[in-house]
Amino acid sequence: MPSILALDQGTTSSRAVLIHEDGTVLGQVQYEFAQHFPSPGHVEHDPRDLYHTTIEAARELLAKTGEKPAAIGITNQRETTVVWDRRSLEPIGPAIVWQDRRTTERCAALKAAGVEPLVRSRTGLVLDPYFSATKLEWMLRDPAIRRRAEAGELAFGTVDSWLVARLTGGRLHVTDPTNASRTMLYSLGRSWDAELLQLFGIPAAVLPEIRPSSGVVGETEPGLFGRPIPIGGIAGDQQAALVGQGCVRPGMAKNTYGTGAFLLLYAGAEPPAPPPGLLATAAVDATGGTGFALEGSVFIAGAVMQWLRDGLGLLATAAESEALARSVPDNAGVYFVPAFVGLGSPHWEPDARGTLTGLTRGTTRAHLARAGLESMAFSSRELIASMVAGTPLSLPVLRVDGGATANDWLMQFQADVLGVPVERPEYVETTVLGAAALAGLAVGVWSSIDEFVGTRRYRRFTPQAGADQRAKWVRGWDRAVGAALHWARGSTG
Ligand code: ADP
Repeated sequence: MPSILALDQGTTSSRAVLIHEDGTVLGQVQYEFAQHFPSPGHVEHDPRDLYHTTIEAARELLAKTGEKPAAIGITNQRETTVVWDRRSLEPIGPAIVWQDRRTTERCAALKAAGVEPLVRSRTGLVLDPYFSATKLEWMLRDPAIRRRAEAGELAFGTVDSWLVARLTGGRLHVTDPTNASRTMLYSLGRSWDAELLQLFGIPAAVLPEIRPSSGVVGETEPGLFGRPIPIGGIAGDQQAALVGQGCVRPGMAKNTYGTGAFLLLYAGAEPPAPPPGLLATAAVDATGGTGFALEGSVFIAGAVMQWLRDGLGLLATAAESEALARSVPDNAGVYFVPAFVGLGSPHWEPDARGTLTGLTRGTTRAHLARAGLESMAFSSRELIASMVAGTPLSLPVLRVDGGATANDWLMQFQADVLGVPVERPEYVETTVLGAAALAGLAVGVWSSIDEFVGTRRYRRFTPQAGADQRAKWVRGWDRAVGAALHWARGSTG
């Protein structure tokens, strides 16, 4: 019975996970690697660390399990930028990590020059240092390096390209649409964009070939794992999670509840026009081909619980919030807008700050904990509403993952507020599952994403609240957000 080896190269660690044809997880090995912060705002990885930790994890896992996987699927931290010498496969310097802000001024200058509308219409992104283009431009700032790039001696890639180059002994220089769509050099759904390449001064000679997310691109060097293994899947981590959650039909979405919340909604076969504050990005359709998603984040989600715990000392643990929320019949009119760092989509008010409304002498820490949990559900609902507004899309189900989904009360409340079922997978490493699904599909282990998703088990939270109750909650939340906005605008005006 075949298995698939998923390689998950993340921001703080690299993992290898074996997924059996029947969907069971046969084993996992994980290695952390060093983070480098050479100066304020600079975040770097050693590309060799990314490769070595991934390979070591894979080798150890294969040795331990004795498995001979049918294919490898790769998923990776997105946007992080690597440049290497094509012949020696040695990086020319550190990888610039997605979190790195060194190109902030460059992005501000480009915005001032009025190029953001072009960038947004072509790529679905916003002009921000987060994406690869200005990182790569920075790496090529030395004229000698630029000459080597123009002469075709150097290769650029996101981490997927770098891993595939090393896994294939330099035979392949490829990426997939989901990773390409985070570079700010890719015209959504089409190809590298000549005008954007010119804008950022990127020679076409450094670019990888764009191949489908699911499909065999080549085989690993025979010496690496004792025999060649086909590389069958490539996707950036968030899009891999979307596939791993089976969200491959228009309107299906996944939400990750961590420190912040990270939401992707599969939109269809054509690139959607993203509402303000949201991104459009390449994703994967039900056949493993290219589709498109809307992407957005809630800045503060689980972080509310950290603040109640560490800032106020109201909770001993984040998990205690569940019992507290259950201990009161309702929020007693208390709403908590955790705009600690401003309000994101759909409001975009950077000057907004956290706001508590509806406090009375009767307000207890249980109400505050409950209002904190409710804020995660309300802001996620608001983000989804802004994604589907003005489109024919509607959400059939919300699939969830991330640390705060351990809270059953929160999951039920999210379903109640949305009026849509919430499904939490038993195995929560959805990024790994997506990489496995794409590779397994490529070599025939599964015949469709649906068949793969059939191997997954979910706990379903079904909405219990009626439409009147939902409307009342949303009104309360909207008023509280209105108060936060009013405060922010008063402070600047
Ligand atoms: P990240 O990947 O961003 O570090 P995780 O997915 O590990 O985040 O989730 C951790 C977050 O989830 C923390 O902000 C924590 O406060 C929150 N959290 C963890 N358990 C619970 C819980 N039972 N109820 C509510 N929030 C929780």
